[in-house]
Amino acid sequence: MPSPRLRFAPSPNGRLHLGHAYSALLNARVARALQGEMLLRIEDIDPVRCRPELTEALIDDLAWLGLTFPEPVWRQSARMSTYAAALDGLRGRGLIYPCTCTRREIQDAAGAARDPDGGPLYPGTCRGRPAPEAPHAWRLDMARALAACPGPHAYTSFAPGEPDVVRAADPARWGDAVLGRKDVPTSYHLAVVLDDAAQGITHVVRGRDLEAATDLHVLLQRLLGLPTPRYHHHDLIRDAGGEKLSKSLRSEALAALRERGASAAQLRARLGFGEDTGTA
Ligand code: GLU
Repeated sequence: MPSPRLRFAPSPNGRLHLGHAYSALLNARVARALQGEMLLRIEDIDPVRCRPELTEALIDDLAWLGLTFPEPVWRQSARMSTYAAALDGLRGRGLIYPCTCTRREIQDAAGAARDPDGGPLYPGTCRGRPAPEAPHAWRLDMARALAACPGPHAYTSFAPGEPDVVRAADPARWGDAVLGRKDVPTSYHLAVVLDDAAQGITHVVRGRDLEAATDLHVLLQRLLGLPTPRYHHHDLIRDAGGEKLSKSLRSEALAALRERGASAAQLRARLGFGEDTGTA
């Protein structure tokens, strides 16, 4: 059995808020319980929205919270050639195709079917078309991918102190998902499965909002010959008394709380981590 390894994987496109703090503290708690290690991964593939100063601020906010991580911190922006190579491999196997559709064109051509995030399911407009000169995205050919890796697909879901549960995964509900963007040779989905494998992540602890994406991640792992970690998708953050924090509070920046004089200890206690100390 590989030694337990977890990661907190924020995107530096804004300041960290209470929702991030909860997720990071929960990762640290689980890492400690498993006597494992917890890494920080900066998911900065978006060259416009992700700014270096936000990465620095994020690391600073985490340190203030009491969380430090092994160096060097993993940055996805430094991994573009690895992502491009994986895309090339998928292209060689006929599993992805170029797509020039704009958001607008997809809106107009799509039917009523939606992906799990509520976006229109891609209607397949560019499937089978030759590669264009113009910049384009790369989409997974879901039908071919499922032919190459027929189901059933599943992953193990864990929760501290509870028995593991095997969950069925239904990648088809994502349709022909984007694996390479117009501007960078990856998308969140491709980078996350490659990096979880490259970093040796055994346990993924992340928000419930990414639970549906796991169905697609499991298929990508099979296609790329990568291991599937165990997953825990946590609920919305609650305060120490078990009440859900209001949405406005959840999205409150740690920086704003710090400026108003909140201490890290108070904040940890409020999120239900009062007993926990230090990093994993
Ligand atoms: N970067 C993603 C986010 O900030 C999290 C990715 C993950 O945990 O898989 O929402």
